[in-house]
Amino acid sequence: MAATNNLISGEPRRVYTGATWSEGPLWIPAEGVVRWSDIPGNRILAWDPATGETRVHRSEVEFTNGRVLDRDGTVVQCSHGLRRLEREHPDKTVTPIVDHWGAHRLNSPNDVAIAPDGSYWFTDPDYGLVQPNEGHPGELEYGDCRVFRWSEDDGLSPVVDDMLRPNGIAFSPDGGTVYVTDTSRARGVGDGHWIRAYDVDGASATNGRMFAEIGTGFPDGIAVDWEGRVWSSAADGVHVFEPDGREVAFAPIPEVVGNLCFGGADGSDLFVAATTSLFLLRTATRAAPPFPPA
Ligand code: MG
Repeated sequence: MAATNNLISGEPRRVYTGATWSEGPLWIPAEGVVRWSDIPGNRILAWDPATGETRVHRSEVEFTNGRVLDRDGTVVQCSHGLRRLEREHPDKTVTPIVDHWGAHRLNSPNDVAIAPDGSYWFTDPDYGLVQPNEGHPGELEYGDCRVFRWSEDDGLSPVVDDMLRPNGIAFSPDGGTVYVTDTSRARGVGDGHWIRAYDVDGASATNGRMFAEIGTGFPDGIAVDWEGRVWSSAADGVHVFEPDGREVAFAPIPEVVGNLCFGGADGSDLFVAATTSLFLLRTATRAAPPFPPA
């Protein structure tokens, strides 16, 4: 089945298969590869479009999930197993960023994005605590699942507390809006199968509102293109929404989609992490600049 809109050209191309549950794709410009997590496989994979080959970037990685490129070329990523946000350097060494809120450990950070002021905003649902193949059993020590903001100067503070299981997160190209998905329907905790939008007001998120619902499955990871459209994962493929929430395109994918990112040489490739496979879709748009204006 072909995509329903000229934003997407051609059929999805499966460029890799052999993972268990694929998540957290990120284009790494310096290496010309897309790096992503096979969470139950406890490894990070990298697909190189120049060779068509996938290699194991690192293994025994404590169940990493979503990641984002920082201004200095390091990668900020979520670790279910170590219940933290961490930084991976180009030499593959990893250093912690934050793992506690007050006296309590975080749950299992899931996905992360960078705000206009350079702070890291990340979601903290419980999936790494309640799924033994995606982390280690544990308690919700602060008793909730929130979205947090962290910066070197300000430390850690919650920014969103009206979701049961916050999951994917992305900023609009101007940095004025943050989109967060709620996937509480996934394990029957609630009915969350939607994307909410919030105004970014300095160090806080205000004016929370419904942005879009996903009818088949739920929205796990999301990506925003340079024109502000929101590209969402779902059980049946990739759904695309205009900034006003209208759905304008759909690309069926033959496996449940976990997350997605733009990348490639011209920024117009959409990499779709979908269960056992990585798919490549050519699009008529491109990645937003990696960092919103300050
Ligand atoms: Mg996720």
